[in-house]
Order: sequence, then structure tokens, then C-alpha cells
Amino acid sequence: QPLCRLILGDQLNPNHSWFGEKRRDVIYLMMEVRQETDYVLHHAQKIIAIFAGMRDFARHLREQGHRVHYLHIDDAGNLPSLTKNLDRLLQEHDASGFEYQAPDEWRLDEQLAQYIGTLGIPARMVDSEHFYTTRDEAFHLFEGRQHWLMEHFYRQMRIKHNVLMSGPRKPVGAKWNFDHDNRKSWSGTPREPEDVRTLHDHSVLWESIRDAGVNSFGRPSAAAIPWPLNREQALQQLDHFIDEALPHFGDFQDAMHTKAPRLFHSLLSFALNTKMLDPREVVEAAEQAYRRGHAPLPAVEGFIRQILGWREYVRGVYWAHMPGYDKLNVFKHETPLPHWFWDGKTRMRCLSHAIGQSLDDAHAHHIQRLMVIGNFALLAGLAPQEVHEWYLGVYVDAFEWVELPNTLGMSQFVDHGMLATKPYVSSAAYIHRMSDYCKGCHYDRRKREEDDACPFNALYWDFFDRHADLLSSNPRLGMVYVQLAKMSDESKDALRSKAHQLRRQLEDL
Ligand code: FAD
Ligand code: SF4
Repeated sequence: QPLCRLILGDQLNPNHSWFGEKRRDVIYLMMEVRQETDYVLHHAQKIIAIFAGMRDFARHLREQGHRVHYLHIDDAGNLPSLTKNLDRLLQEHDASGFEYQAPDEWRLDEQLAQYIGTLGIPARMVDSEHFYTTRDEAFHLFEGRQHWLMEHFYRQMRIKHNVLMSGPRKPVGAKWNFDHDNRKSWSGTPREPEDVRTLHDHSVLWESIRDAGVNSFGRPSAAAIPWPLNREQALQQLDHFIDEALPHFGDFQDAMHTKAPRLFHSLLSFALNTKMLDPREVVEAAEQAYRRGHAPLPAVEGFIRQILGWREYVRGVYWAHMPGYDKLNVFKHETPLPHWFWDGKTRMRCLSHAIGQSLDDAHAHHIQRLMVIGNFALLAGLAPQEVHEWYLGVYVDAFEWVELPNTLGMSQFVDHGMLATKPYVSSAAYIHRMSDYCKGCHYDRRKREEDDACPFNALYWDFFDRHADLLSSNPRLGMVYVQLAKMSDESKDALRSKAHQLRRQLEDL
């Protein structure tokens, strides 16, 4: 009687200790299941990339001599529920026991915890062996605090894991954070590194996904998808990033450009979140690049902060506040997403680029997600749960544990500042400073109330005016409220009525 072990679609780590020994008494179960394609409407590339990675992982395990039972999306008898499939497979193999790796999503964690409670055989959850931190580490660090400062968490992680340190509690370069050096715009030099990722043709897989009736959105062509299939390809991508892009990562971390969608970002989030790559090896590779003089400290520190800091921190926020965090909506925003979230057709050039790129590539970089799309969503008062579902569906790297705190906490401020110290919003001035979007836009970035005025401007001031009861006592927003107080009543009325009109006409912007 074999032991059955479940591998989820984001658990594609061939170095997990499970695979250290070839046991003929173990059967690995993998399944492409409608429950996972359908919990939100997904971008086609996200579904394809995950299933393709799973299929390649099963191939790899079999080549290594492991036994795998794989359910394809169009296999007869594949049921739409993970646990119903498990029932059938455990029975079919007459399993003596059942094991699974800790899921990263609360939804699956609950489902599997309840499921093993109903099984009549020994069953247990094991560690996924991926993260630096345990699920509750951030909770213990911040217990009882109203604000969970990422910087505090990050410094603790640097010390604990001895990353970029020159002595006990002494950061390399005598500074923990080089953010101030990392805010340049980009106007063509240095050149964006070539995209050397292998393009995969997944037309056959795509056909079977469609035949199974799975709905999706985003660029439909499955013939040229660049997401890695396995650890080998992900490692090549990591090497290329370290060689070509990391040295400039810091300078242009916040820059955006219509001709350079990637700039100097790593594009590693899919490989990290599916666990093809271990965060430690990515952090170590970046630190080594600094130590051997290949990349400057601000770039390396800025990059490491994203992984050792933000990535682990948002996971801690997620586990400490789920369930419940997904329902927060401190501003009571309720406006549905306008159609252009699904087709990119808006005259606002920044949004048509950032959303268009998301729909084409299932990827956009951090500042596009935060300071263009999320910025507008918050200013316009879009319903945060709808915004969250859009982000969860559209990005290839979107798994709820990382997407939800970023979207709802960092971007939409639904928790009233537990995660972000102030709302990440701006008028056109910031977008113009960091990008080439405003050049050639239908709207005028310098105007506030005229017909062709940039919508961000009136919406920005109106947002702070509307929510003064919740925000005016925030010390980081002092200047905003000083400026608002200086405005005449007529100016404020004009802004309010312009913003009101914009919010009623979102579909037509
Ligand atoms: P790089 O800029 O090269 O950064 C390196 C790595 O750092 C990333 O691969 C990622 O693993 C990590 N990282 C960077 N920023 C963050 C962050 N804020 N939180 C967690 N990890 C981070 N990231 C996801 O992985 N999945 C998501 O679903 C997701 N949703 C987001 C939603 C919003 C509203 C915002 C503002 C950010 C979101 N992020 C998400 C974080 C970030 O935008 C992406 O990780 C990044 O754009 C991925 O591209 P990259 O690999 O080129 O990242
Ligand atoms: Fe976006 Fe306004 Fe600039 Fe147009 S003018 S690109 S809408 S910020």
C-alpha cells in the first residue's frame, strides 16, 4: 500500500527533501483542476504557464525514477474539485497514508486541513521548505503593534540571515536602505537588457484547456510564452539578470517607459512563486555580485530588500490577517471596474500602456502596478475586492498570499495604514517625472479642471478632501492637508465637481 503525496501547481521545487530518495512506495499526485483555474477569471498565460510547469515537473520526477499520477485538465474522470479527485485517487491506489506540502493560500490550507480530518488513514502537512520565515514569524515580531513597519522586519531578517552585513548588527555600507538613490527616470540609456528567455509554444496545451471549458482573458496566443518551464530555465534567467540588469536595478527601479516594459527588473517572480527558485539562492547571487564588484550596493540592497524584505513580510501579513483581510474596505469604495481593465482601451496613456502590457504579457512591474493602475483605482474609488480579483487573475506571478496584501494593503490602503504608512497615490506630476507616458497623452498633465485635464489631478485632491476624516491626522500627509487648506472654497468646489464628473464617466475616459 503506497503513501500518496500531493504536489500543488506552485510547489515545483525539485530540491524539496521529499525527492531526496527514490521510494517506490510513494506516489506523487499532481492535478490540473477546474477549482484552481476558476476561483477567479485568469489570464490565459497564467493558466498555461502553471500547467506547463507542472507537466514538466512530472516529467522530471519520472525521469528521476519517482512514481507520478498526473491528471490532465481534459482527462476523463478529472473532477472540478481537488478533494473529490483526491478521494478517487487515494481509493484507486489504496493509499496507506497521505501527505501534502503547506499550501501558501489560506483557501487551500483550510480545504486540505478539513479534508485530512475526514480521512481514515494517517495524513499530515509538511513544510514547503521555501521561505526564510515561518507563517507566524511576522505576527510574533509585530504582536500588539498598530503599524507593521516593513523596514523593521527587513532589518531583523538581514541580521538573522546574515545578509549584506559587515558585523553583528552592522549593515554593509553603514546604511540599511539606499532607497533615496533609487529614483531615477530612464530615457534610453543604459540600454534595457535583451530578453533572452526561451519562448515556448503551448498551443496543444492551450487547446485542451479551452476544450475543457476554462474561461480566461488576456492575450490569447499560446505560441510564444516566455515563462520558464523548470528550474534549469529559471536559473539561466537568474544568471542573465545578475549579469546584465542587476547593476542598474537600483537606479531605475521606479522608472517606467513605453519602449522598455521590463527595464532592469528580474522577471523572476513566477519562478520564485512556483518555487522553481529558492529565495536564498537569488539573494545570495545578488550579494555575491556586490562582493565581487559587479553591481553597486544601492542596486543590490534594493533588490534584496524586495525578496528578503517585502516578499517575506507580505506573506507574514497575509497569514496574520486571513481570513478577514480580504473583506476590509476602510474607504467604503464600491465603483465597479471600468471596461478598460479588460481591454486596455482608455485615452489615459499611462493606463492604456500599463493595463495593455498586463493583458499582453501577464506581467507589469511594481511601479506600473502600484503607481499607475493601483493609484488610479484608489483615487477613482473602485471596489477594492474587484481590484484584488483583477490583480489575482491578470498576473502570472499572482498567488493570493503575495497578491492580496500588495493589492489591498499596499495599493488600496484598505487596512487604514497597518501595512503602508500612507496611501500610494499621486497626481500626474509623479507619473510624468518617472515615465514618458504623459508625452502624447490625450490629456494634459498640467491641467486640473478643464475638459482635457489629466484625470489624476482632480481625483488626487478630491480623494484627500473626501477622506479627510480618515487621513488628515496622518503625519506623513501633513503637507497635502496644508496645501488643501490653502485652496479657496471656489477652487475646492471646482475640484470636487470635476472629480465627481470623472467618477461618473470612468467608462469613457
Ligand atoms: P523585481 O522588481 O525584479 O523584484 C525581484 C523580486 O522581488 C520579485 O520577483 C518578487 O519576488 C519580489 N518582490 C518585489 N516586490 C515585491 C512586493 N511588493 N511583494 C512581494 N514580493 C516582491 N508580486 C508577486 O510576486 N505576485 C503578485 O501577485 C503581486 N501583486 C502585486 C500587486 C500590486 C498592487 C503591487 C503593487 C505589487 C504586486 N507584486 C506582486 C509585487 C511586485 O510588483 C512583483 O513581485 C514584481 O513586479 C514582479 O516582477 P519582477 O520579478 O521583475 O520583480
Ligand atoms: Fe496618465 Fe495623466 Fe499623464 Fe495622461 S497626462 S499619461 S492620464 S498621468
